Amino acid sequence: MTYDGDTPKSGERTMADRATLRGSRLGGTSFEDESGIEFAPRQLVTYDCANGHQFDIPMSAEADIPFVWECPRCGAASRQRDGSEPESKFEKPVRTHWDMLLERRSIPELEDILSERLELLRTGAIGPAHLHRRGRSAPKSKKSA
Ligand SMILES: [Zn+2]
Repeated sequence: MTYDGDTPKSGERTMADRATLRGSRLGGTSFEDESGIEFAPRQLVTYDCANGHQFDIPMSAEADIPFVWECPRCGAASRQRDGSEPESKFEKPVRTHWDMLLERRSIPELEDILSERLELLRTGAIGPAHLHRRGRSAPKSKKSA
């Protein structure tokens, strides 16, 4: 097992490493000129600032484009021009079953229904007693144990 804590692996740089290090590495490595450097594929992403500024941010073609970028002029949150807002689908208020129930019934109605059902439950018309009544009406079939 080799321990390579100090030695940088030359062939395995990520896109981000290459982008940030391409200037500083020039001294140590023998690049003939700038055109010999292999750049990661780039794209310009346009952002619209809330205060009317617009700017382009060069990004790696493989990067996950952030939908919001800080405006370099005023610092306001800026939205990607052609982007789709990723959070929008999560911002919907979550409707619980209770919410949906309240859209159809008022609380007094629900209380009526509840007492109605409780009454049926007590009389054995619904609920576990109802399910077990068949066994109770024919007790001899269960006596085998
Ligand atoms: Zn701005």
